[in-house]
Amino acid sequence: MKKLIILLSLISGMIFMINAQQEKIRIIVIGAHPDDCDGDVGGTAILWAKMGNAVKFVSVTNGDAGHHEMGGGALAKRRIAEAMEAGRRFGVEYEVLDNHDGELTPDLKTRKEIIKLIREWHADVVITHRPNDYHPDHRYTAILVQDAAYMVIVPNIVPETPPLSHNPVFLYSQDNFQKPNPFHADIAVAIDDVIDQKIYAMSAHESQYFEWLPWTAGKLEQVPKDEKARLEFIAGRYRGGVSDEMKETLIKWYGDKNGSRVKYAEAYEICEFGRHPDEKEILRLFPMLGEK
Ligand SMILES: [Zn+2]
Repeated sequence: MKKLIILLSLISGMIFMINAQQEKIRIIVIGAHPDDCDGDVGGTAILWAKMGNAVKFVSVTNGDAGHHEMGGGALAKRRIAEAMEAGRRFGVEYEVLDNHDGELTPDLKTRKEIIKLIREWHADVVITHRPNDYHPDHRYTAILVQDAAYMVIVPNIVPETPPLSHNPVFLYSQDNFQKPNPFHADIAVAIDDVIDQKIYAMSAHESQYFEWLPWTAGKLEQVPKDEKARLEFIAGRYRGGVSDEMKETLIKWYGDKNGSRVKYAEAYEICEFGRHPDEKEILRLFPMLGEK
């Protein structure tokens, strides 16, 4: 009898694990450079990962132009190491593709590479930049992902990698560009609980936040040496806030009381080329949303 009880509890445990695995949401974030996914989606990624979901960050270029003193292979190697450390801190997998920084074009070879990555990850959600962006690598990453948005289900395209049975939901991360149309926050995720972890994870990209980006802004001499002050330095610039539009969206997803007191958030716009989720599906894909 005792053996039977142990066996039954083992079986029910296994069924629970299988169900948990099946319900795991699979998210792939595709940015142009090693640090783009981090700043745009980092807080949401931490929340997804903490809830047991599978998150992958991809940088389509190797970042080998993003510095004023170093470049080429040595810089690419340094940035890959920074991305791996950031991935560890976010709790996500990080992959850096070997395309030159600043030279990305929306060509067929890279489109196929993106299709393969989305399929291999069995993505339910794909997030990228919007196609109207100041940086050509961001623009073409967005185009490459948009170009994959239907092809991921077409068996005769990249035939060696099985197609997805369901088209994922494709989302754009937030930006402030106004033309030809401003960003629209369809979904907003409160990240107050994980903002410190996000900033700490972002700080793994030392070559960017403490060297290259301050240099481009003419503020290299303002970068502090002390570890705590360095985190505050990044937080002051990249923690973001909540715009009026975002607040409305937060209230929609979290309710009046909780939505209106959010201090830090990340927002997403639904790309019309992928799967069109209804509210119920958005709540399933973003289990951190909802009135508490
Ligand atoms: Zn970038």
